[in-house]
Formats: sequence, C-alpha cells, structure tokens
Amino acid sequence: MSLPRSSPGATNYDHGVRDPLNSRLAPFGTTIFATMSALAVETGAINLGQGFPDTDGPSEVLDAAVNAIRSGQNQYPPGLGVPELRHAVAEHQRRFWGLEFDPDTEVLITAGATEALAGALLGTLEPGDEVVVFEPMYDSYQACIALSGAKVVPVLLRPTPDGYRFDEDELLAAISPKTRSILLNTPHNPTGKVFTRDEITFISSLAIEHDLMVITDEVYEHLIFDGREHVSMAGLPGMRERTLTISSGGKTFNTTGWKIGWICGPRELLRAAMSAKQFLTYVNGAPFQPAIAAGLRLGDDYFTRLADGLADTRNRLGEGLRAAGFNVFPSEATYFTTVDITPLRPDGDGVAFCTELPHKIGVVAIPNQVFYVNPEHGRNLVRFACCKRPEVIDAAVDRLVTLAA
Ligand SMILES: *Cc1c(COP(=O)(O)O)cnc(C)c1O
Repeated sequence: MSLPRSSPGATNYDHGVRDPLNSRLAPFGTTIFATMSALAVETGAINLGQGFPDTDGPSEVLDAAVNAIRSGQNQYPPGLGVPELRHAVAEHQRRFWGLEFDPDTEVLITAGATEALAGALLGTLEPGDEVVVFEPMYDSYQACIALSGAKVVPVLLRPTPDGYRFDEDELLAAISPKTRSILLNTPHNPTGKVFTRDEITFISSLAIEHDLMVITDEVYEHLIFDGREHVSMAGLPGMRERTLTISSGGKTFNTTGWKIGWICGPRELLRAAMSAKQFLTYVNGAPFQPAIAAGLRLGDDYFTRLADGLADTRNRLGEGLRAAGFNVFPSEATYFTTVDITPLRPDGDGVAFCTELPHKIGVVAIPNQVFYVNPEHGRNLVRFACCKRPEVIDAAVDRLVTLAA
C-alpha cells in the first residue's frame, strides 16, 4: 500500500532524521497489484492483472460460513486453527497426495498462504542465511526473506516453446554453505509451470545432500490442466522430515478474500513456523475455517470441474493472445499465461506496455519484471490472468486482437 509520507496534524516523528520505513523493506515499494488494479478501476479496463476470480465459490462453502457466523463461531479460534479444519486438511493431504499428517501436531492454520510463508520464513531463518528461490517468484517471498535478514539467491526459469525450464548446474551453483532452504512454488505463479516429477526429484536430491529445508507453496495444487501431475515434495523419499508444505483455500474455492491457509510438516519445523505466526495474526477467520473444511471435503467432481472451467478460459485467452501477435508460452496450470511482447513492441519494455495498455485498449496485465530479483530477466514478459467468466475473457480477447492490426 502506498501511504502518504506525512499526514496533516500527525506528529512529524521522523522529521529530518530518518526514513520511517526500515531499510530491509525500502527496496520493495508499493505492490504492483495495488497499482495496476487502481489503474483498472480508473480506466474502466478489464482487469487481467491481479489473480482473483469474478464468480463465487461453491454454495456448500458459502453456506457453511454463513451458518458458522449465525451459530456463534465468531471468537478467537485455537492457536493451531479449528480442529475441524485441521482434520479436513490432513484428510485432503492423504486423499489427493498420499501424505500423512497428524492433525493435532502437524497442521497449522494461517491467515492465507501469505502468512504461512511469512511464518515459515521468519520462524526458521537467521540473518545471513541464504534461500534458493526460482525466479520469477511470487512477490511476498523476497520481502519476507529480506525481513528475516536472510538473502535470496535466485535461479532462473527460462521461457522455452515447451514451457519454463531451469538449468541443473545453475541450481547446483546457487547452493552454498550458507544455504538454509529452498523455496519452491509448484504449480508456479507467474509462469504457469508445473514442476515435473524429474525436476522435483532432482531438487530433493540436492536438499538431502546439502541438508536443506524445503518450503513448498502449492496454492494452485488443484488448478492443473491437460492431465498433468502435481508432485508434492513432501511425498518424495527423505523429504517429509525437512519440508513445510503450504497451501490455502483462496484459489481452490474462489474465496481469495477469506485468507484461510495452512502449513503441514513435521512437529519441530511446524513449531518454528508457529513461533513467528503467533505474533503476526495469532489467529484469523473463525467462521471461514469450518467453511473451508466443508470445501476440502467436497467430492472429486468439484475439483475436476474447477480445473476444466479454468482450462477453457486458459484456451480462449491463449488463442486471443496468439491472434494478437504475442509469443505465448504454454500455461500448464494456475490462473496465468505469460507472453513475450517483443513481436508487438520491439523495445520489449513490459512496464511501459502494461502502463499504456488500459488506456489503449482497456485491458490490464502485469509486467513480469516485478517478479524477478534481476528485473532485466523479465523485462519483455507480461502476465495475463484467465480466472474470469468466459464472456469477460472473450471481451478482453476482442480488445487484444486489435493490437495485431
Ligand atoms: C495467491 C498466492 C498466494 C497467496 O495466497 P493467500 O492464501 O491469498 O494468502 C501465495 N502464493 C502464490 C504463488 C499465490 O499465487
């Protein structure tokens, strides 16, 4: 959020002395999503920038929240989260990924995956530690690692006609004696990549060899297309004891505003994350916790239909982007498709492109360079979200194809 530097009448506490913002956060500024969503509102453009759905989730989930509010579940829930949801998360991990977690000691409910990530990073990192992260990356990773005093060591995911790939030697070279953990996001935002079993096995072998922790962000675990397989790191040999697995209900149940997330992991690692988490929010979302539990217990058809619906809008968006003349990279999962803009804008300036686009044709997208530690690596790449009703995607496509003329 962008706050005024000083407000009238407020004590000018920092006058002439020092910036009130601490030096660890100073590099990060306002998140791009706030800026671009404000631009969408200001210009009346179709917002394919920030990834939030424009339809409500399943009525079973919405009704469960209303019932919970009406039946008085409105006070602080237990520190670990309501037992019903912890049990539902443990059941979900077994049902979909074959993972066993004790709901009383190995599952922690958080204020979205965002707080789960903050808790896991702030609770385990020492100043000077290094965290290996694939770039581009979700924007909160860099900020939380910086807050903990640790350092991000990026490994590049390069776009190819077959999807995004990393170089095994580059990953190997990124690991040093200071490396504490690897932070992995699969399926991956913003690239739409699903890490393959081979890739995850390779990463796991390095984690074991160098005795590293792995934190894995799996919020798009159910938004996978074309029969691809989600591989959860904790299920690989030797990985359960060193892995914190993070997800949330926002993307799976179209409830991004509820902020109900969770971490699963072995007791000692979970305790470290809990130590930080308890001083961030302590607890959150009492009536939404049983509602997400109801969602996690929905039949397989719900999860299948969710992915099928999104695959349809992914296809419509992808065809439109190709017709507009972009170089479009495959979207294997998630809300997102990324493109190289250079066929349409030879200078490859993604920030200028995204700033002009709402004024020019009434569509908002996100310049990928904000997801990189080295912005140059993503300068010519732009991300479009497909998590909108088909008619909204079609309307956006009608506008995008005019760029080809
Ligand atoms: C949306 C998103 C999150 C945040 O999830 P919340 O539950 O809304 O906090 C975390 N990681 C990735 C990769 C995301 O896209």
